[in-house]
Amino acid sequence: MQLTVLMKNRNNPDTPNAVNVFTDDSKVFILCNCNNGRHDGYCYHKEALFNDDVSCVLDRQQLGAFSNAVAMIAGTELKAMYESFQDAEAAAFDAKNRAKRIKDKLSRAMMTKIS
Ligand SMILES: [Zn+2]
Repeated sequence: MQLTVLMKNRNNPDTPNAVNVFTDDSKVFILCNCNNGRHDGYCYHKEALFNDDVSCVLDRQQLGAFSNAVAMIAGTELKAMYESFQDAEAAAFDAKNRAKRIKDKLSRAMMTKIS
């Protein structure tokens, strides 16, 4: 099974990006022809599919293909990996904030006069 969804191109609105979702040996693959999608493998178009975020969909005609693509990804190993990545990013964000609070406390403590 293969689906193509046309999505908005933030860098060049006149040239939409094509995101292809296909299955092979029961595995799901997602390819995008935008710069990041081609070079890094990760891009905001793929992220929009994982998040069921229609804001990147090119137009109303693409909504059906988009929902079918989201359904193809649901429950797959890729979706689980994406969720793990999101959890890790949230944990990293929390850890960074905690480190900042501790550093601020340390900074204040170092300047406190000892009586
Ligand atoms: Zn992309």
